[in-house]
Amino acid sequence: MRRFKLFFIFLLLPLAVFADGQGWQVFKSTHFVVFYKDASENSLNELAQKAENCYNSITEDLGFNRFNFWTWDNRAKIYLFNNHEEYKKETHAADWSAGEANVASKTIMTFQTAPGFLDNILPHELAHIIFNEMVGFNNPAVPLWLQEGVAGYQQRDISSVKAYLANKLRQGNFISLDELSRTEVSGSRDRAKVELFYAESYSLVKYLISEFGRDRFVFFCQSLRDDKNLARALSKAYSFAGMEDFENAWKTYILE
Ligand SMILES: [Zn+2]
Repeated sequence: MRRFKLFFIFLLLPLAVFADGQGWQVFKSTHFVVFYKDASENSLNELAQKAENCYNSITEDLGFNRFNFWTWDNRAKIYLFNNHEEYKKETHAADWSAGEANVASKTIMTFQTAPGFLDNILPHELAHIIFNEMVGFNNPAVPLWLQEGVAGYQQRDISSVKAYLANKLRQGNFISLDELSRTEVSGSRDRAKVELFYAESYSLVKYLISEFGRDRFVFFCQSLRDDKNLARALSKAYSFAGMEDFENAWKTYILE
């Protein structure tokens, strides 16, 4: 559960533009271009390998592996700053931030030795980028809970979420699906509510994929991309009668 807290505000932050010719060197892998200044070949290999593994497991997990999103000129970019000071100075990130992503430009920024980057932040941010590539950037039909749920789905050790949510539901301390769709967490200082938001978002995606399979989830995402209508995509892919029906089925799954 603790991990949810790491990811509050990374999505959709404004991105500083790093012009070529500022001393960046380039290291390329199949789906990524890593820009760096002084980094050992070992650390570059480790970063690129980890990013490629994430790419493969995310596309596999979500059933997107038959779409080859990023190769050659279309590769995602990772900027690896030398240290925390340089990273903060160039990105204006908060003190505690270990990485930032800009989904539309498929760019991730971090620094060498950033805590939790390879294991937590990289998979989370890559999932955001890959999912947006699938459903379309700035698609108004895609709610924040779905974006964060897909990214949270990449975090492995959150098996206790269902029990946590069952408790919250029984206590009547639960965010309704309707409210969840309107919740804006990025500026929120209410930690408990933000944690609940991330847990519920994750659970919704987990419910769709574990109960109905990856192929249906892909079909759902394609419908979202083509129709740009959440309720219609849900009823097409899963035959829920409406949002209320979907919410009730999800709650039954949490309590079972
Ligand atoms: Zn996120």
